[in-house]
Amino acid sequence: MKIVNSIGELSKIINQQKHSHQKIGFVPTMGYLHQGHVSLVEKSLNDGCYTVVSIFVNPTQFNNASDLDNYPSSLDADIKKLKLANCDLLFLPTKEEMYPEGDKLISFNLEGIDKPLEGEFRSGHFEGVVTIVSKFFELIKPNYAYFGEKDYQQLLVIKQLAKKMFPNIAIVAGQIVREPNGLAMSSRNARLSETEREIASKIYNTMQAMNTQRDLTVKKLEEYGSLLLEKIPEIELEYLRVVDAKTLLPATEHTLSQRVFIAAHIGEVRLIDNMELRA
Ligand code: AMP
Repeated sequence: MKIVNSIGELSKIINQQKHSHQKIGFVPTMGYLHQGHVSLVEKSLNDGCYTVVSIFVNPTQFNNASDLDNYPSSLDADIKKLKLANCDLLFLPTKEEMYPEGDKLISFNLEGIDKPLEGEFRSGHFEGVVTIVSKFFELIKPNYAYFGEKDYQQLLVIKQLAKKMFPNIAIVAGQIVREPNGLAMSSRNARLSETEREIASKIYNTMQAMNTQRDLTVKKLEEYGSLLLEKIPEIELEYLRVVDAKTLLPATEHTLSQRVFIAAHIGEVRLIDNMELRA
């Protein structure tokens, strides 16, 4: 696996690959890698791509300074995991390299997909995401870019970005990878104790329980799920919403494809998860 820090070096290698008609697959990450990330790398390799992973903790997508300061990092372990997965290239840029003009954000009309859910609770988050992903897309010009359904709204935001600005990049979704107890894998789980991880799995249990109550109205279903989580003293629920999986607008009884989205705090750690609700 090649490891590069500079845009110059990266561009040279990408151009060589493109010259030999090699398809490029790109997996952006913020590091502290787990099987969720690795599953995206494997997807790209299975698609026959020269696979580029970036590790960059993007400061502009953090709306909370302490979340940024406490973001976990483990570069040596990450490199080992990527080598084991047969990743071709790891791009490790510095902040100066990615933001030569300071934290200037790219603002872009995403047709409203960035407004509900995380958009409502993490002001400016998606502007930061779109800014960094646009920069990476410009530099790497991948044929495929891989994003996890763990961050489902981000996936839809990037699909919208690609449709308008990068029509030659296919956005590929990866399923959520979970711990044996159902907790969605996340770098932020590193900040939870063993006990807290068990408690956090109740988020998954709640979504599953909601899937057994499909005769309830949307409003009652949201109340049912919220009540289950509000009963747990260690969990501070930020939102639980049942929405249209395509538009992320509130679902009605007639919405064909419904999805539940949850954001909750356990101690200092903010967790998000989502699940398709059975038709
Ligand atoms: P992050 O490092 O958290 O920015 O995540 C990088 C990519 O990995 C994003 O596309 C995430 O959606 C994806 N990802 C993170 N956790 C998981 C997971 N548990 N399962 C699948 N994909 C994930």
